[in-house]
Amino acid sequence: MLEIVRIPVLSDNYVWLVHEPDCGETMVVDPAVADPVLAEAEKRGWRITQIWNTHWHPDHTGGNADIKAASGCTITGPEAEQARIPTLDRLVKEGDTARLGDVEAEVIDVPAHTAGHIAYHFPTEKAAFVGDTLFAMGCGRLFEGTPEQMYANMRKLEALPDDTRVYCAHEYTEANGRYAVTAEPDNAALAERMDQVVAMRAKGEATVPTTIGEERATNPFMRAASAEELAERRAAKDAF
Ligand code: ZN
Ligand code: FE
Repeated sequence: MLEIVRIPVLSDNYVWLVHEPDCGETMVVDPAVADPVLAEAEKRGWRITQIWNTHWHPDHTGGNADIKAASGCTITGPEAEQARIPTLDRLVKEGDTARLGDVEAEVIDVPAHTAGHIAYHFPTEKAAFVGDTLFAMGCGRLFEGTPEQMYANMRKLEALPDDTRVYCAHEYTEANGRYAVTAEPDNAALAERMDQVVAMRAKGEATVPTTIGEERATNPFMRAASAEELAERRAAKDAF
């Protein structure tokens, strides 16, 4: 059973520290920065052995070099973005697996936010690390891809079991929800969730991880009926 720790950094990023107690391995997902991650691992007595990146953006890879220098860890990331992440040691794509101790993750290609974006799904742990592809009530901006690609990504992710926990890389939930309730004004589950999120954020609480089931019920991008509808909703959110 993995132990997963949320490390809030920068203005709204979440770095995830993942510990596998049987083998004693510790992995970092998308370290925007190094120091708070090294401090958290040190505090817990965990030695960082791996970094896994979902995409090349600096707020997901900025800590790679310093964490590697401090720990000697191995860095795994998207083969299609190797030119933009020079610190990578192991290149992966859909169909590959990544391993933390005895626990195995499947790599899923989810291009659109960036052209080579990947996600990591641990089936036995019911956990998925999705970077900037899927957010609570939102999805990533389409910087290097198309609505058709993001629509296909949503089909892949919604196919995971409903109780899969979804570890997003940002606390964007409240802003996403403010748009989402305008996209689906008759969605009672969405309205109820938004009330909870507003209350949680008022107390400074994190709203991530979410679950696939919650997103299937309330996420206007996962719920878009076509790539065209997803495109309309993405454009509306960008201008919101
Ligand atoms: Zn990004
Ligand atoms: Fe990001």
